[in-house]
Amino acid sequence: MSLKLYNFLSKKIEEFKPIKNGEVGLYTCGPTAYNYVHIGNWRTFIFEDVLKRVLEFNGLNVSHVMNITDIDDKIIKKANDEKVDFKEITKKYEGVFFVDLKKLNILPAEKYTRATSYIQQMIDLIQKLLDKGVAYKGDDGIYFAVEKFKDYGKLSGLEKRELKKGARVNDDQYDKENWSDFALWKFPKGGEPSWPSPFGEGRPGWHIECSAMSIAELGDSFDIHTGGVDLLFPHHENEIAQSEAATGKKFVNFWMEGEHLLVEEEKMSKSLGNVYTLEDIVKGGFDPLALRYLFLTAHYRSKLNFTWKSLGAAQNALNNLREIVAGYQEAVIGCSEFEQRFKDSIDNDLDIPKGLSVMWEMVKSDYPDSAKHQSVLVMNKVLGLGLDKIAKAELPRGAEELIEKRELERKGGNFEESDKMRRELLEMGVEVEDTSEGPKWKIKKKN
Ligand code: AMP
Ligand code: ZN
Repeated sequence: MSLKLYNFLSKKIEEFKPIKNGEVGLYTCGPTAYNYVHIGNWRTFIFEDVLKRVLEFNGLNVSHVMNITDIDDKIIKKANDEKVDFKEITKKYEGVFFVDLKKLNILPAEKYTRATSYIQQMIDLIQKLLDKGVAYKGDDGIYFAVEKFKDYGKLSGLEKRELKKGARVNDDQYDKENWSDFALWKFPKGGEPSWPSPFGEGRPGWHIECSAMSIAELGDSFDIHTGGVDLLFPHHENEIAQSEAATGKKFVNFWMEGEHLLVEEEKMSKSLGNVYTLEDIVKGGFDPLALRYLFLTAHYRSKLNFTWKSLGAAQNALNNLREIVAGYQEAVIGCSEFEQRFKDSIDNDLDIPKGLSVMWEMVKSDYPDSAKHQSVLVMNKVLGLGLDKIAKAELPRGAEELIEKRELERKGGNFEESDKMRRELLEMGVEVEDTSEGPKWKIKKKN
């Protein structure tokens, strides 16, 4: 296999080899359904979609599992603030998530796992950890004892962090500067949803959700686990600890983490008012796929700075591409030279920006349109820009006959007459260009 991916575990680019020949188990940490998904989240979900498409482009059969966190501290807080059942909150935001997913042309996962449907698997996993003596009971919940797992820190590196001996954290999102024992199961505080378990009524911590769901669906060991870089520590580190301590096996071979999206050079935050959703993008007059295009212009391990200006440039590039493709003839045998260069780029740790530039180079090349069309369709399988759904540009009535007549006049040397016809066509909104393959037309852009 020629596919190479950067592995955050080894901190190296490695050749990708699946555990089972031809099959890939892929787990991506999904949204927490307590708010609208923002464009930073979408950047990560689009990186994961491209990863899946590249794996499929390499002939692999991908089982993609994405979780929906439908119980955690933030959801409970919002439900309490709004005085509604927590399920009302998660149902609403999950619904919007699935609608937006389609608008961004993100392929659906083979399975979406909701945390509340896997409580029994989480209880079983915690019981195993208790039996092995790596988990213990505290006053407000069951905790994982990090000191008992010798490989703790192998993903994120702990050199810069301090071990808070004996300290415990109950919050799902905690301090990135320190490491301490973390909650696997939380005993209920007043008014919180809870489930019965052999070690007391309670609810799961956030980290155990992903371990239990991924193991249940993909097995004790699987190929690739992803998320945004903020999840590296503590979320993914804790997932490794819980899973490997329970099964005694290597949990995941490849860890891939997408870099963050900044907005106007700032971290997205409510106080700065720069937390945009897909709805904001559409309200701003842009196409969801222009946002996708913008994300494809940066490598997933580099920060990307979102500005409205850069989104405008992405929209223009996408419009141009659509116009070119709409004018193409039927797709036949593609340009193998460009297709090979495209594949070499994407196989090199998903160098999509390079892949995009190879596509543009091809589009501007002298290859016949029918070949370019075929190759655009091939590349679109990875890019997901909807270039396979572009309606062929239609000529206005009478234009086709006029183009033919004009060509006869031109061939006969009657340039005055053919120029007159060119102007007539322009008035109909059709631009004609004379090429070695014969006349080519396109619909004139409306200003
Ligand atoms: P959450 O719903 O907060 O769990 O986040 C869902 C996904 O979005 C996770 O993989 C996060 O790492 C990722 N994420 C959060 N903020 C950003 C950002 N600014 N840029 C890129 N990815 C992000
Ligand atoms: Zn997760």
